Amino acid sequence: MRHLALDLGNVRRNLSTIILLGVATVLIISPPASAKDLNCDKQVCVGSKTLGPSSKAVFVENRRVGPITLSLELSELRNAKALRAGAQTVVVRPSERRVLNEVYAVSPRQPWNYRYHYRWRHGSKDAKHDDQHLYLLPYGHGSTYPMIQGPGGSYSHTGESAYDFSMPLGTKIHAARAGRVIAVRQDSQRGGPSRAFEDEANFVYLLHNDGTIGKYVHLKFGGALVKLGQQVQAGEVLGLSGDTGFASRPHLHFEVCAPIDGKRVRTFNLWFSTKRSKRTFLAKGERYTAKHY
Ligand SMILES: [Zn+2]
Repeated sequence: MRHLALDLGNVRRNLSTIILLGVATVLIISPPASAKDLNCDKQVCVGSKTLGPSSKAVFVENRRVGPITLSLELSELRNAKALRAGAQTVVVRPSERRVLNEVYAVSPRQPWNYRYHYRWRHGSKDAKHDDQHLYLLPYGHGSTYPMIQGPGGSYSHTGESAYDFSMPLGTKIHAARAGRVIAVRQDSQRGGPSRAFEDEANFVYLLHNDGTIGKYVHLKFGGALVKLGQQVQAGEVLGLSGDTGFASRPHLHFEVCAPIDGKRVRTFNLWFSTKRSKRTFLAKGERYTAKHY
């Protein structure tokens, strides 16, 4: 093996419940003409291919069902020069493979090497949220739950627009908006009131038609009731609530977001239709009854 992959698992992030953050650092050492490398993080793969005896192309391949935004950076270039300076941030469609940068040896007869580092997020950085869209409450028609933390909450929502609804374990979660299932996790049995559990949440993510993503987080073990790639309508059941991940009590965390780059995410304030109001923002501490039809 000519490469060394280092997993930087402890990167701090802003959001409490963003789970699928791809991070990888790879060192390419004096690549010979035939060297091949490919490093995949949850089906987002970055590799290099030989262009000539002393040049390589660094490419990305998205094997997931939804688009991703990826940031790639080259570093520690020794006797090597990159075609493009600085970090590249690109949107990569499902099944798309594209070259992000090229690296050349400065003195082809001498050993040369470089490192690449990438991060990725679900969705496209170019998504524009439809701010007029009216969302359903993400639980069953007629049922009532308190919203215990809202946009800008002080416990785990600092600087983000996200919604926590307190509900008993195993409550049915319904889609707040139509979309396609682009990520599912349901194998975690761990959760607790600390950021140490951030990466342990089960979830379902939906890709909306405006390119934004709806995230339904903290589902119970085995609590996903939809499959990857499935199209769901607003109001359809997605799964069962739980307390996996960073959660001090059983609740559903719901947010709509889009990436800024391979690391950062922006979230949106949403209009909801409830039993009491046709169109309202939600306020912390209030109880809301779902009206789906
Ligand atoms: Zn939350």
